[in-house]
Amino acid sequence: MTSSLEHLTSPDSLMRKERSAVFRIETGVLKKIVDMLVGKDFYWFLPVILAKSTDPLWPDAGASLEKKIELEIYGQKVRTMQSMIIHKRVLVSLCHGKFFILSPNIRIETRDRSSTGKHLYEFTQLDLEVAHAKTEDIFKLFEEILAESISYIKEYFEEDLQILGRKIEIPKVPFEIYRRRDLEKEHGKDWERSISEKSGSPVWVTDIPREFYDLEDEASGEWRNYDLILPEGYGEVISGGEREYEHRKLLHKMERDGIRKEEYELLLELASQRRLKPSAGAGLGIERFIAYVCGAKHAAEAQPFPRIPGIVPEL
Ligand code: ASP
Ligand code: MG
Repeated sequence: MTSSLEHLTSPDSLMRKERSAVFRIETGVLKKIVDMLVGKDFYWFLPVILAKSTDPLWPDAGASLEKKIELEIYGQKVRTMQSMIIHKRVLVSLCHGKFFILSPNIRIETRDRSSTGKHLYEFTQLDLEVAHAKTEDIFKLFEEILAESISYIKEYFEEDLQILGRKIEIPKVPFEIYRRRDLEKEHGKDWERSISEKSGSPVWVTDIPREFYDLEDEASGEWRNYDLILPEGYGEVISGGEREYEHRKLLHKMERDGIRKEEYELLLELASQRRLKPSAGAGLGIERFIAYVCGAKHAAEAQPFPRIPGIVPEL
């Protein structure tokens, strides 16, 4: 463990004025975001933690999980949430067309990710989903969320930004959009790091081959999904996509990717009954976003009890 990480995980660090400044800014950002979404008629659902279905996080070139947690309750196998994507697809189809969840996710990242400054083995995403939405709708929504929450912090939390020595600009919208396959040609496999270090503002990247639930255009082979990459090396902060809703395609992709269908029975049943609606959505990593707003070195600085890969603290 490097000394700065040790410092962060010690309970005494909670008494430092910089930690309090980050927590005040975090409170402000969360308030601003939920106010905006509730004002746009989004429902605010409470999260699920244990369930039969969760995000397989596979295949995904960016994944590096040391283990997945499965346990038995009432004689049935359940898993800890890696993301609520499956629950989002069911909610958006059967209940309400616009909602968000502040969703705790457990992803046991490999220990070598302790010092990336980005990875946490428990984190929270602001996860949202909108029925019949397209990529452009989600881009617009998150551009507004980022620009307005940063503008709010600059207006009301100037003293805290000063304590942290942080100067941050309100990002200009709309953000630029790149295709992953073009970035890969120019920067190679490590395109995320290159684009994050080189660009002066957040950029969208589309067409990322990954989990079965994101929409893949059969004719072009292009994926209608996206990440938002923050500048200054902060990297990926939002991940989402338009979604598959056809039973035939879901089944084909699950078989292709070696995904266990028995973990996704309800989703497949709804799709076979044509009750799964097209939708789009995404999740914003709260701790990563707060680290960016505050200029923090590690996303764990947004957590009172840091969840850094490989380090299990007393509390
Ligand atoms: N929240 C993401 C989504 O909506 C899933 C993830 O956590 O990567 O696609
Ligand atoms: Mg995903």
